[in-house]
Amino acid sequence: MKLRCKPYTLNLRHPFTIARGSRTQQANVLVEIEDGSDIGYGEAAPSGRYGEDQESVLKFLGRVDLVAFKDPFQLEDILSFVDVLAPGNESAKAAIDIALHDLIGKKLKIPLWKLWGLNPDKTPVTSFTIGIDTPEIIEEKIREAQEFPVLKVKVGVPEDEEIIRTIRKFTDKPLRVDANEGWKSKELARDKILWLENQGVELVEQPLPAQDIEGIAWLRNHIHVPIIADESIRTLHDLPELRGVYDGINIKLMKCGGVRQALKMIHAARAMSLKIMLGCMIESSVAIAAAAHISPLVDYADLDGNLLITNEPFTGLKQTSGKIILPTEPGLGIKPC
Ligand code: MG
Repeated sequence: MKLRCKPYTLNLRHPFTIARGSRTQQANVLVEIEDGSDIGYGEAAPSGRYGEDQESVLKFLGRVDLVAFKDPFQLEDILSFVDVLAPGNESAKAAIDIALHDLIGKKLKIPLWKLWGLNPDKTPVTSFTIGIDTPEIIEEKIREAQEFPVLKVKVGVPEDEEIIRTIRKFTDKPLRVDANEGWKSKELARDKILWLENQGVELVEQPLPAQDIEGIAWLRNHIHVPIIADESIRTLHDLPELRGVYDGINIKLMKCGGVRQALKMIHAARAMSLKIMLGCMIESSVAIAAAAHISPLVDYADLDGNLLITNEPFTGLKQTSGKIILPTEPGLGIKPC
């Protein structure tokens, strides 16, 4: 099999601001794995939070030679070979994992959800993300999110109350909030969350810095809504430490290294009675579709990365009123525009 990669830039509809910072573009890498007449597509959406960028992805992918592998079916062997080339680099590894899965589906002529025995009717509704912004832009974003029944609101800044009050002027939809490690003490997080609970917030994501597991354990006894780990969990190896502390985890293909790892995390998390959210970075339909195909297995979806961009390079993935519609075409079921 032959691997090619192409760097490209996704443009955001609005500047995207979270507690850590703001941006207008996302630099990703498209991967194509060719096997005979079939091409599998994959995508890396690297995050500086996890030590990656477009350059590091291209560098890692430049070291991957798949010529020794005749077809994509021996995934454990191929992905183990890729994994030991260098530690980390999870988004680059995810791009390869996604492209191989796409190729397998195309060779077997079935969509990926069918390969895993999943029911496409059981896809969750995805939330639509409202980044940190001025009241005027927030109002515009709420209009854009009209068809989505659940909103995910970025918080973790001094203006949290103003943001939520603005949203509540226009909608009474259920809200999920994500502080992205922005509240720096457990007491501040407690006060913020108790106030948010009265505003119809149904869960809170990453209220404290990733390493503050003790703070989360304390917070767990002082608030009522579920606490979901995001920055506190990257791969399967991080999971045991979170048991009995967090109520759930946000799995992202770009943090864990792809679909194969995500499936292992889902089953391990279920054994620990954790709730599961499937999240994303700013990604095109390539990586979003890969996550969508396993979404019948999770409780919450936050798969809106492709909805926040203006130059989507692929087509084939749909949602209706926020509910993810899985493609029936083989593999990921998406095509270049
Ligand atoms: Mg998050």
